Amino acid sequence: MINEKMRALGAKRSVIRELFEYGKKRKAEIGEENVYDFSLGNPSVPSPEAVNESLVKLLNEENPVRLHGYTSAQGDATVRAAIADYINSTYGESITADCLYMSVGAAAALTSSLTAIVNPGEEVILPAPYFPEYKVFIERCGGAVKEVMCDEDLQLDVAAIEAAISEKTAAIIINSPNNPTGAVYSKENIAELADALRRCEEKYSHPIYLISDEPYRELVYDEIEVPYLTKYYDDTIVCYSYSKSLSIPGERIGYVLVCPRCADFTAIYQAVCGAGRALGFVCAPSLLQKLIPFCLGKTSDISIYDRNRRLLIDKLGEYGFEMIKPQGAFYLFIKSPSGDANEFCERAKKHEILIVPSDDFGCPGYARLAYCVTTEQIERALPAFAALAESYKETKK
Ligand code: PLP
Repeated sequence: MINEKMRALGAKRSVIRELFEYGKKRKAEIGEENVYDFSLGNPSVPSPEAVNESLVKLLNEENPVRLHGYTSAQGDATVRAAIADYINSTYGESITADCLYMSVGAAAALTSSLTAIVNPGEEVILPAPYFPEYKVFIERCGGAVKEVMCDEDLQLDVAAIEAAISEKTAAIIINSPNNPTGAVYSKENIAELADALRRCEEKYSHPIYLISDEPYRELVYDEIEVPYLTKYYDDTIVCYSYSKSLSIPGERIGYVLVCPRCADFTAIYQAVCGAGRALGFVCAPSLLQKLIPFCLGKTSDISIYDRNRRLLIDKLGEYGFEMIKPQGAFYLFIKSPSGDANEFCERAKKHEILIVPSDDFGCPGYARLAYCVTTEQIERALPAFAALAESYKETKK
């Protein structure tokens, strides 16, 4: 017997993966340099030197049996203690190793957290636009998604979120810096959200967890501050990943942090451990765990993404495209000149530009461009963008 829900998920690739696969095929047909692939959020900037140097050091100097052996299910205690110290000194927190559960990237951190707190029939609020996989993760738990569109400035519409919360609400997932828009929610916006969530907890007499999905925390521009969520709201669970900050998405390492001030901290942490066990996400890759203490506070060279961001904003603006200026991550959200996201992306394809339609992000009428590519690729793509913009002017004539 087959689980048909899972079969359907496997048979239908995400729109992003679909486009990425199309890109691979097209590159084989017409040459890599002639396809302008902006589909995937795969970091293009090399990892900081500390990554490879520390891996080599670990491989050369550590006892190999220990290095490659199982760690405890929730992760190596020394590694978790080092991460806790870093979080405490960076964000003025007071967590311990026992608040952390090492995970296989943010994806496993999210599925473990959601499995820990969402029961069938409960609801999870998703401010839109959002990362499409959230829906898959929530629905697997038997949860229902409630979408709430952000405001015009792409900040959280707190009044709308409060109105959408019901007695069935288990959690809200926020992601800042945001994929797909690059928006960063301000301190004031987060403080307002925290107040609203506390009011709702009181009203419905149960916790409403704030899940903060943070793979892009360090990827911010113009010295924008990304508020640390546990400082605003106690019932917070942070899902962190080193995929983007260290440019190691294929290595799969991150963690779940359960705020020690959660009303039912012990139960929640146990449930995360139980969810990790049920999902088979115990003992995240040992070598990668042991790498992390050497890389705390380090990031890939973000100035390269910033250069790409500025170039795109300047040039695409010049051609007449309307965009939302990203403050973080490495995505640009471009308005479809026709108002139709799919039409825009299909037309872009004809110019060999691969960008992702926004509908699956819970927001119609836009396309997401991932600018974690070489600046040279952007420069090569500019004439194609100019021609794409021109084609809309011709349509209007
Ligand atoms: N959350 C968001 C918003 C993402 O953009 C991604 C990956 O692109 C993930 C989670 C998954 O991250 P990871 O590769 O660490 O599993």
